[in-house]
Amino acid sequence: MEIDDDNDEFINIATNVDVDAAKNIMLELIKALGENPEREGLKNTPHRVSRMYVELLSGYTADPEKIINGALFNISYDEMVLVRDIEFYSMCEHHMLPFVGRAHIAYIPAGKVIGLSKIPRIVDMYARRLQVQERMTRQIADFLQQTLKPQGVAVVVEAMHLCSMMRGVKKHDARMTTSAMHGAFRANLATRQEFLDNISRGSKPLQL
Ligand SMILES: [Zn+2]
Repeated sequence: MEIDDDNDEFINIATNVDVDAAKNIMLELIKALGENPEREGLKNTPHRVSRMYVELLSGYTADPEKIINGALFNISYDEMVLVRDIEFYSMCEHHMLPFVGRAHIAYIPAGKVIGLSKIPRIVDMYARRLQVQERMTRQIADFLQQTLKPQGVAVVVEAMHLCSMMRGVKKHDARMTTSAMHGAFRANLATRQEFLDNISRGSKPLQL
């Protein structure tokens, strides 16, 4: 293995990525794009990119049990729990370019709460895949619904899509907001509005 400046922390990540196959394909792709894979700057690129995917796509093999790791607590609290501005980085499955943004998540417990630090890790589990934003939003909401069986779950995701921004034709499509609601957030307008008011209060526009 040639030395490069990227750290190799990936070796501890469980993965479905066939790193050697990805490396060969990257080499072929560079050639197919009309570039010279032998030149200095590109020489280690297939190696770096194939390893990068291990980290960027680590969500497939993330273990939900391990992520939760005993951080479910029985508690009689039944007011809305809200975590906003959870930063995430995902990959659009149509173009394999990043989409990045923030997730806002709320739930109303029904006897069970989850440790706050776990919520961003749940977002990452679904973000680090080849994704579409709508599905990712739904998966986060469904996972919390199944795990916590709360009175309701709400997930709003705002993101900017590099595939729209970089190609320059449809820049107005670059920002997208998606939502998924379960239980009380779906059934009760006042509950949903309280959540939406909370996440819009003092929110900053998305920036890269
Ligand atoms: Zn795309």
